[in-house]
Amino acid sequence: MSKANFKADLHCHSTCSDGTHTPEQLVQMAKKIGLQGLAITDHDTIKGCASALAEGKKLQVELISGVEFSAVHAHVSIHILGYAFNPQHPSITQFCERHQRRRAERNFEILALLKMHGMPITEEELKETTLQHSLKQSVGRPHIALAMIKKGYVQNMQEAFQKYLGEEMPCYAMGEAISVEEAIQTIKEANGFAILAHPHLLKPSQEQLLAELLELPLDGIEVYYGRHNAQQNQPWIQLAKQKKLLMTGGSDFHGDTKPNSFLGSSWVDEEIFRLLHTRFQKNCER
Ligand code: AMP
Ligand code: ZN
Ligand code: FE
Ligand code: FE
Repeated sequence: MSKANFKADLHCHSTCSDGTHTPEQLVQMAKKIGLQGLAITDHDTIKGCASALAEGKKLQVELISGVEFSAVHAHVSIHILGYAFNPQHPSITQFCERHQRRRAERNFEILALLKMHGMPITEEELKETTLQHSLKQSVGRPHIALAMIKKGYVQNMQEAFQKYLGEEMPCYAMGEAISVEEAIQTIKEANGFAILAHPHLLKPSQEQLLAELLELPLDGIEVYYGRHNAQQNQPWIQLAKQKKLLMTGGSDFHGDTKPNSFLGSSWVDEEIFRLLHTRFQKNCER
């Protein structure tokens, strides 16, 4: 394998959160499309890490640990990616558990709001939808949207988010606001890398927010994102260089729940992957 051909996708979701492929299937897919490295970054859970690592060993795809933490800064929802920590580190496992409790409470709030708006969904009905997602971790808005479709309240996911579940929509609830600082600190306690996810999705009006985030002890920025092209990534690459931050990237593949983003549509090269992988191995030896 020549160095130039090395590609590692560092952002994708499995059935442990809101993706439609199991961790093993993601590794198999990575192998099939010619990726040499992969990180699964489920929302607020690392439950998929162990089986992905095992499948990676089998298929000779190199894996590092990953997670995408939900966080809040100035009332805005921000995602922080964590990499290369030991998945058994208590700071990480306890933080994930806290997030699962946050999600359970928040789902309850969202279901109450939907009921108020004439769209009742029982906890049982939500559970049925999430059963298709075998591992039942990190249940959230995409699963609620699926239940809404099933009950005929909306036609599709897009409509569910645009009319009801999106931020600032009538059935949105944030749940306990866990700060960006806490997410970064947790990742650092486990000697991992804390990365600002997809800054591409910030609005131009959120410049001040971005400036504040860059004051925090982040290790890097996800500069290559999904289907964004070289020109769209360029400002983020410039910013990372200027701030001397790591530059990561990945597709944010979700399978059928986000049909427009494909595994391997963004990636990092061998140099950056090696840096993360070396740290991951070191952390797992402890
Ligand atoms: P949650 O973590 O429960 O707040 O759900 C957030 C997830 O919902 C995101 O990571 C996306 O995968 C998905 N999502 C957000 N907005 C939309 C949208 N407009 N259409 C479909 N999925 C969305
Ligand atoms: Zn998602
Ligand atoms: Fe995200
Ligand atoms: Fe994501």
